[in-house]
Amino acid sequence: MTTPVLMVIDSDPGNVRALDATLRRRYGRDYLIISETSPATAQDRLRELRAAGHPVAAVMVGSAVSAAPAAEFLAQARSIQPTAKRVLVVPRGGPAAPSFRVPVPLVADRQAATLVLRAIAHGAIDAYLPAPGSGPDEGFHRGVTELLEEWAREAVPALPAVRIVDRQESARAHELRDLLARNSVPYVFHAAESADGQAWLAQADQDGSALPVLVTYNGQILVDPPIDQITAVFGLASLPEAAVDVAVVGAGPAGMSAAVYTASEGLSTLLLEREAFGGQAGSSSLIRNYLGFPRGISGSGLATRAFEQAWSFGAIPSMAGPVTGLEPAADGFRLRLDGGRAAQARCVLLATGVSYRKLDAPGVDSLLGVGVFYGATTSESSAFAGERVFIVGGANSAGQAAVNLARYAQQVTIVVRGNSLAARMSQYLIDEITAAPNIEVRTMTEIAAADGTGRLETLTLKDTATGSAENVPAAALVVLIGAAPHTGWLPPQISRDEHGFIRTGSDLTQDGNPEARWTLSRPPFPLETSMPGVFAAGDVRRGSVKRVASAVGEGSVAATQTYQYLERRRGRRPG
Ligand SMILES: Cc1cc2nc3c(=O)[nH]c(=O)nc-3n(C[C@H](O)[C@H](O)[C@H](O)COP(=O)(O)OP(=O)(O)OC[C@H]3O[C@@H](n4cnc5c(N)ncnc54)[C@H](O)[C@@H]3O)c2cc1C
Repeated sequence: MTTPVLMVIDSDPGNVRALDATLRRRYGRDYLIISETSPATAQDRLRELRAAGHPVAAVMVGSAVSAAPAAEFLAQARSIQPTAKRVLVVPRGGPAAPSFRVPVPLVADRQAATLVLRAIAHGAIDAYLPAPGSGPDEGFHRGVTELLEEWAREAVPALPAVRIVDRQESARAHELRDLLARNSVPYVFHAAESADGQAWLAQADQDGSALPVLVTYNGQILVDPPIDQITAVFGLASLPEAAVDVAVVGAGPAGMSAAVYTASEGLSTLLLEREAFGGQAGSSSLIRNYLGFPRGISGSGLATRAFEQAWSFGAIPSMAGPVTGLEPAADGFRLRLDGGRAAQARCVLLATGVSYRKLDAPGVDSLLGVGVFYGATTSESSAFAGERVFIVGGANSAGQAAVNLARYAQQVTIVVRGNSLAARMSQYLIDEITAAPNIEVRTMTEIAAADGTGRLETLTLKDTATGSAENVPAAALVVLIGAAPHTGWLPPQISRDEHGFIRTGSDLTQDGNPEARWTLSRPPFPLETSMPGVFAAGDVRRGSVKRVASAVGEGSVAATQTYQYLERRRGRRPG
């Protein structure tokens, strides 16, 4: 790959020199540092770099650039180099730079904080960084390397761990690509019809009659493999022989947090996941409201860190298969897995989360994976460059998907049945959507049908007020219309509400509630289910707040309660 560029723009020559020197000292070997004092020449430079095939990792705009040219430059930078991180470098601890009106320290100045937040919310910048102080400023460099890491994850092709050869329009290939992307496994897809695809098939000694063919980094050839065969390649398909203290079912934020806390308390912990470590959060393009990440964190970044943390405390991650059954056993519980295998645990924590409700319209099911997607399609966003994309749904996940897709797509249309987005979407996202020139919102509208040969080509939109229908060309339909809990596999002894969410704690002991099935003399722990020794945390739990932070919090609380439960049992107290 050609050396990527870090570009600095500030109309104050002293500022430019200082920032240029700071960046050159740390990043000069791996990045080409380019400095400009005018947004107009910087724009020309970006175009030249694009023409020469130089990727730009970040453009850093200093505070001496006046607001209007800075805004114009940042907008242009986005269209010239869509993956470049756009950064505002704000003065450190000094008074406001009058031209750009971004005073710091941010903590002491609410107006300044609001201005920066608005710039981020309106999509004008990806991040801000306080200007580096004199001498080595590790805080500044941490900010820079975090941005570079994020840029590299999105823009730098990693050495593939898996090559997939399949037909271009194969829904199975989409499923596998999504699985690998959600587990942060670098892969390359080769269309079976292409020269590359043919070459890889020949190398794998396959004639292409059975697809997909996977070639793994260690030379294994897998033909149309089930998921557990793929996870076995990465050492994630094994199960401990002996009973563990805690089996956590589901590795979204709740399950991974629980595993971190149980393992760090010294409990042997098995973390069972059926498809992707990170759960729903792993599919989020940018989580901006999770404590401790002021510039936001990508779902895959958070999932990778959480996985590593749980693993480093000794939790055993396993993708041996979805858990399909749970029953009391001699010394705790037996968990049955798809494929006939089983695991034993002294107590169980259910963190199986939710998944999206299905869109009931003709044609949608048959185009699943070939233009129709459920959930935010982080792995597919760039594939819609220059295309027209539709999103159904009016909650935050739909808003985030729209903002992410708008970076690539020519036009993004959000389709909602209600008469506005305000009922279910955060204001910061509504602001961002309103500001984006290529996002349109169609209220009082529903998807009446999806159509296409081999892949999605058109949608029929119905105006719910007038009943009129319109056919529109569409490259993709992303469905984000609410969720149902993954609890269908649980035994009837685990009490659930009418929507399938698990009851815990005081829900089980309420007088007059026929579903209150608590049978022991001791009260249930607050996150314990109606089956003593089985706990629930996160989105799957009745009454949970559907947020990353709440899931993480519940996971840690449930972990403490499993610890107390096991202590109680070791002390031979009842229950
Ligand atoms: C696109 C998107 C964007 C979002 N953005 C934000 C945001 O910005 N901020 C925010 O706070 N929240 C956000 N959320 C919500 C947040 O991600 C969820 O509230 C959170 O992930 C819930 O965590 P959880 O661990 O309870 O469940 P989940 O994340 O749903 O994880 C459950 C896990 O259990 C696994 N599982 C299910 N059944 C089984 C089984 N039988 N055997 C084994 N494993 C099983 C699933 O595969 C999954 O990995 C977003 C959600 C989505 C979808």
